[in-house]
Amino acid sequence: MDKTVMAVKDRDCVGCKACGMLCPVGAITYERNREGFEYPIIDANKCIQCGKCLAGCMADKKPDKGNSGSGRKLYAARNKDKVILKSSSSGGIFSALANDIIFEGGCVYGVCFDKEFRVVYKRGTSIEDIESMRGSKYVEAYVSMDILEGFVEDVKGKRKILFSGTPCQILGMKKMCRQMGLSTENVTWVDFFVCSGKVSSYLWEEEKQGYLKKGQLEQVSFRSKRKGWKNYEMHWKAGGKSYDYDSLTYRWNKFFGNSVARRKTCKACEYQGRGGADISLGDFWYSAPLPKEWRDNQGISVVGVNTDSGRKYFERIQGQLEVREVTDLIKEHYKYSDYDEEEEDTKRKTFWDIYEKRGYDALCEQYAKITWKERILYGMIRPVLIKTGLLDLMRKKK
Ligand SMILES: Cc1cc2nc3c(=O)[nH]c(=O)nc-3n(C[C@H](O)[C@H](O)[C@H](O)COP(=O)(O)OP(=O)(O)OC[C@H]3O[C@@H](n4cnc5c(N)ncnc54)[C@H](O)[C@@H]3O)c2cc1C
Ligand code: SF4
Ligand code: SF4
Repeated sequence: MDKTVMAVKDRDCVGCKACGMLCPVGAITYERNREGFEYPIIDANKCIQCGKCLAGCMADKKPDKGNSGSGRKLYAARNKDKVILKSSSSGGIFSALANDIIFEGGCVYGVCFDKEFRVVYKRGTSIEDIESMRGSKYVEAYVSMDILEGFVEDVKGKRKILFSGTPCQILGMKKMCRQMGLSTENVTWVDFFVCSGKVSSYLWEEEKQGYLKKGQLEQVSFRSKRKGWKNYEMHWKAGGKSYDYDSLTYRWNKFFGNSVARRKTCKACEYQGRGGADISLGDFWYSAPLPKEWRDNQGISVVGVNTDSGRKYFERIQGQLEVREVTDLIKEHYKYSDYDEEEEDTKRKTFWDIYEKRGYDALCEQYAKITWKERILYGMIRPVLIKTGLLDLMRKKK
């Protein structure tokens, strides 16, 4: 039996890159598959079959004990700072948590756009760095080995750290540290309450091209609140001009909603709620039971406070927030659904064959066309439902 991570199936590998850090002889590197997702490859000439990579891989799906779910409290919360709230995806809680760590002299690991508007993990030590991480980018984020090495050094140096990422990335980092014998008492882990998954970076490179032709790309936001939180838009600024599109009728949303455009692990994700994060963040769409002043369409987060250390941290940032406990209002709703792998693989093959043979435009034509029905529903009826508050009332309690 293979003692290395070559034994891990594609549908279980989340691309956390812990294995590359654990290999004592540097035998593991990463290559993109034809869909643009990175997977480990092993240099057989270097590998000594020690088994350390597999032993430290989180794909065994064992939940992290930090997050048992018992005693978890849920809150609706939002940042009092209106500028931060407006530029955040939901309630701006990430910024409140991150700013606190920066003021304490610590560092924050989160995701930003680099100069070429690639989506990448970054180490932040200033308020400007936190601003660059603000806002969700619905694309798989690139994790460099430099970032992971920096993280391990920070853990060893007992620096105060906030690590924010997808539930699977956090599970990967926690297991890596445990395998290295490192204590992570100095780390606060922040993941997503619900995670819809990561779209291929190849598709993102293609999507950007259309705007690069218009001039230098200056700004991108997947969750612009120009018209409000619930009417979120995709915003581009290129060549000095702004382009804003209702997100639900913008083609990226079709890829975001299509499992074959996302990493294979995301289809039946088994990592949500199991990563052991101290705090989990998401959108609090079910705002009907909240007082009227909260229903102003500026953004509300659901905050899952999962551990004692998360509780202490959340208490510390209360001054920056408006907060209401909602533990009894919503339930955890992670779905560990399984699926027909053969059927999914066939759909995947067809999708990526079209991309490879006929290009991005053909792919969009086939998979990302917005129908008239959708335009009427999302573009005309939905804004009215939001304005009148009917959407809130129609939303089912989760
Ligand atoms: C890929 C993805 C899928 C998500 N799916 C859902 C969902 O289905 N339902 C839901 O309620 N919430 C989801 N979220 C979370 C939600 O979009 C907000 O990020 C969350 O509510 C925090 O909002 P905020 O206003 O507090 O902070 P924001 O300022 O919006 O914080 C953004 C945070 O997300 C991190 N981040 C941004 N892009 C990425 C990325 N590509 N990978 C990893 N981390 C990233 C940043 O580092 C920062 O910590 C998802 C987030 C991501 C990144
Ligand atoms: S450690 Fe991470 S990148 Fe390596 S095989 Fe396991 S899940 Fe994949
Ligand atoms: S859906 Fe699951 S596997 Fe995919 S990014 Fe989110 S936590 Fe990771």
